[in-house]
Amino acid sequence: MNDRIRTAALLATGDEIVGGRTLDTNSFYLADKLAALGIDVVSIMAVSDDVDRIERAWKISLAAADLVISTGGLGPTSDDLTTETVARVADAELRLDQRQVARIREIFGRRGRPMPDNNLRQAMIPVGAEVVDNADGTAPGYRLRINTAEGRRPWGVVLPGVPREMKAMFEASVLPWIAECTDPGRVIVATTFQTFGLPESALDELLRGVVPASEGRLAFRASFPKISVRVSVTGGPEGAASRLQTMAEAVRTRLGGAVYAEGDASMEQIVGELLTAANKSLATAESCTGGLIGSRLTDVAGSSIYYRGGLVAYSNDLKQRLLGVDAQTLRTHGAVSEETARGMALGAVRVAATDIAVATTGIAGPGGGTEDKPVGTVAIALATRSGGDDYEVDSRMYRFWGGREWVKTLTSQVALDWVRRSLLGLPPLEPEALSPRRRAVSAARGGEIS
Ligand code: AMP
Ligand code: MG
Repeated sequence: MNDRIRTAALLATGDEIVGGRTLDTNSFYLADKLAALGIDVVSIMAVSDDVDRIERAWKISLAAADLVISTGGLGPTSDDLTTETVARVADAELRLDQRQVARIREIFGRRGRPMPDNNLRQAMIPVGAEVVDNADGTAPGYRLRINTAEGRRPWGVVLPGVPREMKAMFEASVLPWIAECTDPGRVIVATTFQTFGLPESALDELLRGVVPASEGRLAFRASFPKISVRVSVTGGPEGAASRLQTMAEAVRTRLGGAVYAEGDASMEQIVGELLTAANKSLATAESCTGGLIGSRLTDVAGSSIYYRGGLVAYSNDLKQRLLGVDAQTLRTHGAVSEETARGMALGAVRVAATDIAVATTGIAGPGGGTEDKPVGTVAIALATRSGGDDYEVDSRMYRFWGGREWVKTLTSQVALDWVRRSLLGLPPLEPEALSPRRRAVSAARGGEIS
């Protein structure tokens, strides 16, 4: 029957939300809960405490969805206008709910205070609405059907703004009700791929046509330094799962080595899994990253199985004394050079007696750049033991961009990715892959550093 709830629109009301003083965590929470129920959230809107604006927002939301959930604007003060507006939109009278009056009076009684008259406002409920009890606060919520101009009858659910109360009410009363109204034959299934080394535009080009709009959805999310690609499919439980499998396989094939994880595993977790599976050990020799790579590796529980440790050799002196980098190499090529990075990686792999060592040396900025080696110039090297006392070493010179933290983070990511790639028999990311085109895209998205 057509009464099923398939779509929802969320509405956050309050001057503090649109004024940028309070983050709309209510919608964030509700969107996640609704998605888990297989409900398609069509919009999230925020609106100030103004009757005309609230009314317009309700009308837009009702026109777009089977269910509108509003939070906020249920306080006792004159700037809380949700209920009178909802009554207007629903063309319903307001009635004083005596049970709620008694309950609010009781809350004040417990606190040893008389109930101010304006709290009666909170016991006003549109006629025909069903109350959603609030165990923690004074403002009850309610749900009601609302006739739209198009002759539809979507649901409206009105909840208070205080996140703790809203969540308790949603979980106790609203969620079980919505679950009964959803279509049991319809689910949303998804797979997320974590990628590194391809810009969003390249990912988009590579994946063109892989997920037809009629079959599923493809969503990109850049959160430096990774970009995740999410494939989702809606439909009957079995059909959706098999369609997802087919499309995920196609994505996997197209993106190849750029995908480092499926799900939300981090680069350092994946490196750990690969080292463990190959029964190999790793050491680090860090200059410009100052221990960041070691720190990331040791964020993973159980990393002692494969990570022997690292040396932070920031000065030339320590690069020579602890890692055995040749004084002549440092003099001739400088601390930031592929030759020095190779010397560091070879030193680390020998000193730590590991199978692999990765080394970084670069100019993180903002000072220290030269015309030859501007800020962002970073040499990375990887040494691997090829058997006995034989080692192989490879290096690349990268030109990164951005501020100090950005350069350090990116360097650690490329270094870890190189270890991952070497364990998979893949070549490292070439400097051109992290190209000026990408630089422009990332600079324009400076806000996405996370
Ligand atoms: P109200 O129901 O409008 O009286 O809201 C009460 C309080 O809840 C506000 O003062 C905010 O601190 C908080 N609040 C309201 N709306 C939201 C929201 N969308 N996300 C997070 N907190 C909120
Ligand atoms: Mg408010």
